[in-house]
Amino acid sequence: MNVSPPIYLDNHATTRCDPRVVEAMLPFFGETYGNAASTTHAYGTLARRAVEDARERIAACLTLPAQSVYFTSGATESNNLAIQGYLRRWNRPGHIVATAIEHSSVLEPIEVMRSLGYDVTLLSPEQHDSPLAGRISPEAFLAAVRPDTVFASVGLANNEIGVIQPLRQIAEICRAKGIVLHTDATQAVGKIPLDFSELGADLISFSAHKLYGPKGIGALVVAKRTPPLRLTPMIFGGGHERGLRSGTLNVPGIVGFAAAVELCCHNLQAESDRIALMRDRLFDLLKSGLGEEIALNGPSWERPGLRLPGNLNIRFRRLDGETLLLHLPQLAMSSGSACSSATAKPSHVLLALGLSEPEARASIRIGLGRFNTEQEIPIAAAAIINATHKLVQSNAILG
Ligand code: PMP
Repeated sequence: MNVSPPIYLDNHATTRCDPRVVEAMLPFFGETYGNAASTTHAYGTLARRAVEDARERIAACLTLPAQSVYFTSGATESNNLAIQGYLRRWNRPGHIVATAIEHSSVLEPIEVMRSLGYDVTLLSPEQHDSPLAGRISPEAFLAAVRPDTVFASVGLANNEIGVIQPLRQIAEICRAKGIVLHTDATQAVGKIPLDFSELGADLISFSAHKLYGPKGIGALVVAKRTPPLRLTPMIFGGGHERGLRSGTLNVPGIVGFAAAVELCCHNLQAESDRIALMRDRLFDLLKSGLGEEIALNGPSWERPGLRLPGNLNIRFRRLDGETLLLHLPQLAMSSGSACSSATAKPSHVLLALGLSEPEARASIRIGLGRFNTEQEIPIAAAAIINATHKLVQSNAILG
């Protein structure tokens, strides 16, 4: 039996590691296996050189000083280090502003800081009936700032509805008010043009596996400031990464991370144009096949600049997203519920847009990426349209 693998449409969850990235990593599992901290011999010095070279290449792509890049195990760790590392060191009463649509690896550490005495404001985004749905306006951000606000966290691009935030304007407010700004840029790096030197954020998290690199490696950027930003480590040990993050460096991962960032940066415009075209075609096909049965979650279709090129988030009028996915084993997509717990909860992002629980559950997220092909688009659209019609009909018969 020749069963073809499902079409992968879940590129916000993770991306396939690019074969060129794998190629770049291979020698560091083999002949160059040294510990980057063992600089008393050639194995270690070669590994160390590869790490520093990778740091410089990543920094160059993102217009950053190399010394501001610290390697971590991924964006979850980077977000924790930014939030807990900064605020535990600050260690004075204060107020935090974040958005209600942050990833759980931002929201959970913020809740930890709340439990330690910090006051927290979680900003609601523009609501689902607005053309700017999901956006945090700089005015709303400014209105939430208080004289005692010390820290803010605003994700650059959302992992569910793809909305891109006006971070530069928010950073200007933070700069003027003396607030340290963290941004979770995990979904944005490699997908939209970014000049970190102009972005204005003080702490920036991102991860290799979202940009066609390996899993288990990420970075936290700690911008150069006067006086310097000081963070308490979350992991103690041998003092790696200039004391901020102990633990033997993942040399193959770091080398792969740099290769992945470079591939994204060198081909960014052409790649994002191609992905956005596929995404637009998919939505057009779905709209013409399903009409009023579907609606778009997130920013309006007339505002393409507000959404990541590969993102589509669709709400069905009469269907549950999970049920639909069960009937579409030939497609790999994600539903509007978080299945990390036994009882799948509706997405907090969709609820924060003002959607009801049933509406959130009636949603699916589609994430297109580098390895999708134009040929897959009509196949995916036809599968979704057929499954929707079938389910709507059988629901009507049942009741
Ligand atoms: N932030 C965002 C916006 C994400 O999409 C993810 C991954 N789902 C993370 C953080 C966590 O990244 P990692 O898997 O590298 O820990």
